[in-house]
Amino acid sequence: MSALALNVDLHCHSIISDGVLSPAEVALRAKANGVDVWALTDHDEIRGIAAAREAATDLGMRYITGVEISVTWAGKTIHIVGLNIDETHPELVRGLTATRSGRERRARDMAADLAARAGIPGAFEGAFRYVGNPDLISRSHFARYLVEIGVCADVGEVFRRYLTEGKPGYVPHRWATLAEAVGWIRKAGGVAVVAHPGRYDLSPLAFDAFFREFLSCGGAAIEVVTGSHTPDQYDEYGKIANQYGFLGSRGSDFHAPGDAVIDIGRLPPLSPTVRPVWADWF
Ligand code: AMP
Ligand code: MN
Ligand code: MN
Ligand code: MN
Repeated sequence: MSALALNVDLHCHSIISDGVLSPAEVALRAKANGVDVWALTDHDEIRGIAAAREAATDLGMRYITGVEISVTWAGKTIHIVGLNIDETHPELVRGLTATRSGRERRARDMAADLAARAGIPGAFEGAFRYVGNPDLISRSHFARYLVEIGVCADVGEVFRRYLTEGKPGYVPHRWATLAEAVGWIRKAGGVAVVAHPGRYDLSPLAFDAFFREFLSCGGAAIEVVTGSHTPDQYDEYGKIANQYGFLGSRGSDFHAPGDAVIDIGRLPPLSPTVRPVWADWF
């Protein structure tokens, strides 16, 4: 089978970060939706990988190890996916542990801000009931709680009204640097991929600086077809991939059944003009 004919999904989440299904349940859903090649990419975490790999192997899917690392670049949060990593590599493991370490403090500050500025008490405890991994409380867990108590109709509304810059519940946070994240991925034998580039609020000039710095750190790919992009952006980022010499990746960013974003394994294929990040893997 040609590389482009494979149903490849290289970005999704389990309850080990801010998804709602266990790694084995995500594997089952991927298989049911026709995925041939699958990576679980939990935020700043590798502890779902063993269960995911075992489930994928049992189901006859090719498994690719993955992670999505939170990065702060020029004051903005950027996500870098690492694929085909050795998830036991000590420097990667240490780096991810450090990246996760401020999350509980931040979550307590978020809850205090929601109480003070929006009159919403108890958000830490409320969000924590959705957490599967105590080291990984995220804004998604707060979003689910705010929907549960009826403050917002859905998660999309939460991120428009709360938890983002200038809104109640937003607490600035310093994640890993770009050079650190790409370095950990590369030392662990993996490929570094810019996650959902269309989601970042950067000027064209800043984007160019970012892509050049990513390349000079050893970054190799960008997501082109992702649940976070519109069809127009599949074309736009396909062109950008070719312009900078990046490989292109494809991944749903699936978190939970029924979310507004596209389901796992249900994205359109990558354009034949883009070289897939998985071209040399099999
Ligand atoms: P955190 O790592 O705690 O900052 O949380 C980031 C997560 O929040 C992302 O990985 C998404 O899952 C979720 N998120 C951020 N913005 C949005 C949005 N506009 N709509 C839905 N989910 C979002
Ligand atoms: Mn997420
Ligand atoms: Mn992301
Ligand atoms: Mn993601």
